[in-house]
Amino acid sequence: MDFRIIAQDGSRRRAEIITSRGVIRTPAFMPVGTLGTVKAMSPEELKDIGAEIILGNTYHLYLRPGIDVIAALGGLHTFMNWDKPILTDSGGFQVFSLAPFRKIEEHGVQFRSHIDGSLHFIGPKEAMHIQKVLGSDIAMAFDECIPYPATYEYAEDSIKITTRWARECKAHQNEGQALFGIMQGGMFRDLRRKSIEDLLEIGFDGYAVGGVSVGEPKEEMHDIISFTAPLLPVDKPRYLMGIGDLGDMLTAVDAGFDMFDCVMPTRNARNGTLFTSSGRISIKREEFKIDKSPLDPDCGCHTCRNYSRGYLRHLFLSREILSMRLNTIHNLHFYQDFFRKMRSAIEEKRFGEFKRQWEGVFGHEGNVDPTITGV
Ligand SMILES: [Zn+2]
Repeated sequence: MDFRIIAQDGSRRRAEIITSRGVIRTPAFMPVGTLGTVKAMSPEELKDIGAEIILGNTYHLYLRPGIDVIAALGGLHTFMNWDKPILTDSGGFQVFSLAPFRKIEEHGVQFRSHIDGSLHFIGPKEAMHIQKVLGSDIAMAFDECIPYPATYEYAEDSIKITTRWARECKAHQNEGQALFGIMQGGMFRDLRRKSIEDLLEIGFDGYAVGGVSVGEPKEEMHDIISFTAPLLPVDKPRYLMGIGDLGDMLTAVDAGFDMFDCVMPTRNARNGTLFTSSGRISIKREEFKIDKSPLDPDCGCHTCRNYSRGYLRHLFLSREILSMRLNTIHNLHFYQDFFRKMRSAIEEKRFGEFKRQWEGVFGHEGNVDPTITGV
């Protein structure tokens, strides 16, 4: 994997990650394909909307269908018919957030499956093995995502574990697969600094910031985003994990982050919350009942080119499968288009102006429950 910066506008970066399966232009948004599918989208449609990389979840794929099945069917790319880059997470986040039981041990975590309660163990060695079988282009180190709130003592102990596991992952790095380290440290600046110092000593192909958007207030989140970005090396990709609110991503790109992933555009689409150039809307609103206009007149996606708001409202209220498909196509296209615009703004050195303009549309909506937004 290669990384080169194409243009800079202050701290913002316009770069390229070059992999054997294709070039990823950054800032980049990675649609989330939890179980080997970005929900409601075919890989062909993902390419049409301009996705250059997607994310797969190690924890979910390990439990279902299981790595033996994926190995027998040729690895994750072949299994799902996606030949562009894939980044897999390490499973750490899901083990800590989904498993009904877990026990941290020296070399990993024993946990029960959220599906059938069966007992499993994943540590750095296992996470690297699973990601090898999946055959992702970028693997993530196995870490502990510190919950919020956490005491200083808890966070301090936790980053020691994350560092130890990061070292084990590095020792088991798979050939031909890039490996990113994950900075933790909770909301404590000195622990964040310590965490990245440890990771830099080990040395990774890219660096991620985890443990953000875990329930903390927006101000604290933005503080950590702005504080951590400059601590990451300039010559490697910088990935802010799990952040997908457009206002938050503007703040993060502004600080110098390159990569993002989130279920927000896809999950919201299925819930009828759609992103448009004039803000979020809930498609179920009465006012759209006989509205012939497209969802977003400024959007060139398949949905906006062919269907009216009135029809999309009807599909949603009738719980038709097509509603999820058309809404997801639009939301993901909107996100990819937003990133295209961010990249141009950085190239043309007008990101500050771009950010101010879009913050007026999306900057203050982050904490609003998507199910009630716009109603
Ligand atoms: Zn559209």
